[in-house]
Amino acid sequence: MGTNLASAARVEPLYDGPLTVATLCSHSSLQIFHGARTEGLPSLGIAVGEPPRFYDAFPLARPDRFLSVAKVADVGKEASRLRGEGAVIVPHGSFVEYVGPEAFQNLDVPVFGNRAVIAWESDREKERMWLESAGVEMPRRFATPAEVEGPAIVKYYGAKGGKGFFLAKNREAMDDFRPTGPYVIQEYVLGTRYYVHFFYSPLSDRGYRVGDGSLELLGMDRRDEANIDELYKLGAQEELLKAGIRPTFVVTGNVSVVLRESLLPQIFDIGARIIERSIELFGGMVGPFCVEGIMTEDLRFKVFEISTRIVAGTNLFISGSSYSDLVAPNLSTGRRIAIELKRARSEHRLREVLS
Ligand code: ATP
Repeated sequence: MGTNLASAARVEPLYDGPLTVATLCSHSSLQIFHGARTEGLPSLGIAVGEPPRFYDAFPLARPDRFLSVAKVADVGKEASRLRGEGAVIVPHGSFVEYVGPEAFQNLDVPVFGNRAVIAWESDREKERMWLESAGVEMPRRFATPAEVEGPAIVKYYGAKGGKGFFLAKNREAMDDFRPTGPYVIQEYVLGTRYYVHFFYSPLSDRGYRVGDGSLELLGMDRRDEANIDELYKLGAQEELLKAGIRPTFVVTGNVSVVLRESLLPQIFDIGARIIERSIELFGGMVGPFCVEGIMTEDLRFKVFEISTRIVAGTNLFISGSSYSDLVAPNLSTGRRIAIELKRARSEHRLREVLS
């Protein structure tokens, strides 16, 4: 039996009444609503102002109902109405970012997954402690510019989309670095980026067993990041800088990738270690998460970040990926969430997947 993440009072009403999949109309909401619909669960879209018109273009992904709020921060004020509708919030990256980590923790509505994970993900120090103590390799950290050896990347805290990150070819190039806020300096890992979409089910008793449940690999993507991905066309970063342009990593889209099959054991081992450690540290991570890293030429995967909920890269795989096709046909991450909710409800185990 997995850990009870939610109080009985919070989830009991969901056994008798409706269970509605709710999320903010953004990010991966089309996939989440489509997954709910495919599994026969009602859905509710939380919209800021008028519901976005684009849902009219996608009848299979349009939520059954909408709840309009003046601003995202008002979601908490609608808690009793959401509970009355049997809502379970499926948090996606934008949801947590817009609501804010603290307000999200305090939201008085059942949330899919363990909300305690936010504290570990949103603090770079805690995230590193979690992953490194799990035995996961991360890019080296340099305490000061003087310690830099080889290429380095300087990341600012809270810089969304890598805005303002500074890249240095070597220690000497760090002399040009002028900090504009709190930052960390990391080894710039040379290799190929992979964003690995996992799903951890504490309910499942078959498959790739981890803890009391099992780990599934549902897909993989690489992000298109402007303007850095087009840098090669200008020859070198210096050329951009001469033109007064700083390289950025603003995600503009995603492409599907697969990994050399011989690297899958390494990837599963990393996913399993992260889950096992999460169980020890904070009662476990439940549902979708993404391990973001760089495969080096000597085939070591160095993890620079973990996203502890559904990532937008999963939008590539509404009707399945090269990996999820081998788990079940037409299995998106959104649909996988709905399947888990239905199973938890029918086995009277919602407390293990909701918080
Ligand atoms: P977001 O929150 O939008 O995901 P962030 O500000 O947390 O971004 P990261 O995800 O850590 O920043 O990094 C953004 C991008 O920078 C990555 O997608 C990757 O392309 C690149 N990057 C990050 N760390 C490294 C590293 N150590 N070596 C090489 N490239 C890196």
